[in-house]
Amino acid sequence: MTAIARREEQLWSRCAGCASLLYRKRLRRNLDVCPECGEHARLGAPERLRQLVDPGSLRPLSDLLPEADPIDFVDVLPYPHRLTAARASTGLAEAVVCATATIGGHPVALAVMDFRFLGGSLGCAVGELITRTAERALDDRIPLVLVTASGGARMQEGALSLMQMATVSQAIAALREAGLLTVSVLTDPTYGGVAASFATNTDLVLAESGARMGFAGPRVIRQVTGRALPEGFQTADFLLRHGQVDMVVQRRSLRGRLVALLAATRAGRAAHAGHPPVPRQEPASRRERLADDDAALTRPAGPAAAVAPSPTPGAGQTPAVRDAWDTVRMARHPARPTTLDYLDSVFDGFVELHGDRLGGDCPAIVGGVARLAGRHVMVIGHQKGHTTAELVARNFGMASPAGHRKALRLMRLAARLGLPVVTLVDTPGADPGVSAEEQGQAAAIAENILTLTVLPTPVLAVITGEGGSGGALALAVADRVLMLENAVYSVISPEGCAAILWPDRSAAPQAARALRLTAPDLCRLGVVDEVVPEPSAAAHDDPAETAHRLRAALLANLLPLLDVPPAMLVRLRRQRFRRFGTTRGVNRAGVR
Ligand SMILES: [Zn+2]
Repeated sequence: MTAIARREEQLWSRCAGCASLLYRKRLRRNLDVCPECGEHARLGAPERLRQLVDPGSLRPLSDLLPEADPIDFVDVLPYPHRLTAARASTGLAEAVVCATATIGGHPVALAVMDFRFLGGSLGCAVGELITRTAERALDDRIPLVLVTASGGARMQEGALSLMQMATVSQAIAALREAGLLTVSVLTDPTYGGVAASFATNTDLVLAESGARMGFAGPRVIRQVTGRALPEGFQTADFLLRHGQVDMVVQRRSLRGRLVALLAATRAGRAAHAGHPPVPRQEPASRRERLADDDAALTRPAGPAAAVAPSPTPGAGQTPAVRDAWDTVRMARHPARPTTLDYLDSVFDGFVELHGDRLGGDCPAIVGGVARLAGRHVMVIGHQKGHTTAELVARNFGMASPAGHRKALRLMRLAARLGLPVVTLVDTPGADPGVSAEEQGQAAAIAENILTLTVLPTPVLAVITGEGGSGGALALAVADRVLMLENAVYSVISPEGCAAILWPDRSAAPQAARALRLTAPDLCRLGVVDEVVPEPSAAAHDDPAETAHRLRAALLANLLPLLDVPPAMLVRLRRQRFRRFGTTRGVNRAGVR
């Protein structure tokens, strides 16, 4: 390319909407919205910040974090190479830029995602930076504004990326409790784990004109359903029509709308200043809180120590090393015991409860009260099936929004009744369908994750078969997370990962190995607390012995939790999910 041609290219750009050739300076003056057709071009985080905040008010928050490649991920390229390239091409340290600033004179903390950086994917560093920004908002008692642009959780950091959905969600829960406003601005595109957590579990959700948001992407939904998608599927106007966003806002009005909302909520807070709805819990600085966390995690005695269970009989024996892909196939085996099988063999007196009280009863989620060794518990799990007919009737264990809302209702009911919650996780993932998206799949998952981070009753999760991404996490933010030996738990299916990062889906076995989705791997990473060994070949060869072992593991892990006061439980649960953002935490988990 000649120098003149290059210069010409910098001066002009082509609109992705109407293909008009536009003078770049004119386009920028118009906030990167095409003057011909109104197409909103994607913005990088720095430009977005310039458009939103008061001039001179921006105070960037530190983006210094240790270099992380927590699972040594390699596809056709090692992950560190992809990171280096993203840094070079964007000039950013990560896929989010965080700052404090004022907007129309109102102080806010902001985290703005940048889709140019590895598709705005949510990894440990991004989760940590957004969590710190939320904690800064809490410390300064100011609103939090999140601008999202993301393809979802970052595959290259495996299940640790998935954990970030819980980490950020609990920081948002803390702002809710403190009566501080949280706002998310959905920009194009916002999908997957970001959509199913902090993009939708904020107080207010604004969608920029032209933005698309959903849990499952259109390509995946087309593949799974074999149907053409409705016109305008997952666009901002679609989201508004289906009740999933507060408003659709043109870019030129976005700043003004934020100012109006910040002013209104500030006025409301001032009016109630004499009677704050929730007293401030901990005025301690973040540093002090972290020191506190350290103390709690290493405390040798007292209630915190009671949470560390005695080893389960049979646990700790070295399981035979099996290839990750073989484990995936084992986890999906049609004969593998299902949640209803365990409800029959491990629990007594199961009484199933139905319905989300909003219009549906999802067959892929079963739940109700049962007894475990004489103690009453609330059990909630994904239900698959053994025959094709059963699998179809249960939608292959893929929960709809109604299923997630049923689970949410039962979790809250359990907390009110003082019952511990036991969840059994076995799902390829949340239902990737047109109606699931219409009914707010992302927000339904997001609300479950957030609620579990603050649920004032013991929560014990077991990954019994497939732990598929956000759909699994919607039942797995728990005080203790157990995993059957041949279960898998992953941020994305190996097939899905292979289709994106390798030349084709036949690389699924390599992807399975790279994702670190087996129970021993996840135990090393601290995502899982204990592996429940399966008999001889696998669970389905001896379901009775599997049930026996699962029951022993459940009791060994649940009984110590029953003595911990609810407030302490919630505090420890939050610490459990807070530590995944830091290399420090991963190391700590790794050496346990
Ligand atoms: Zn245009």
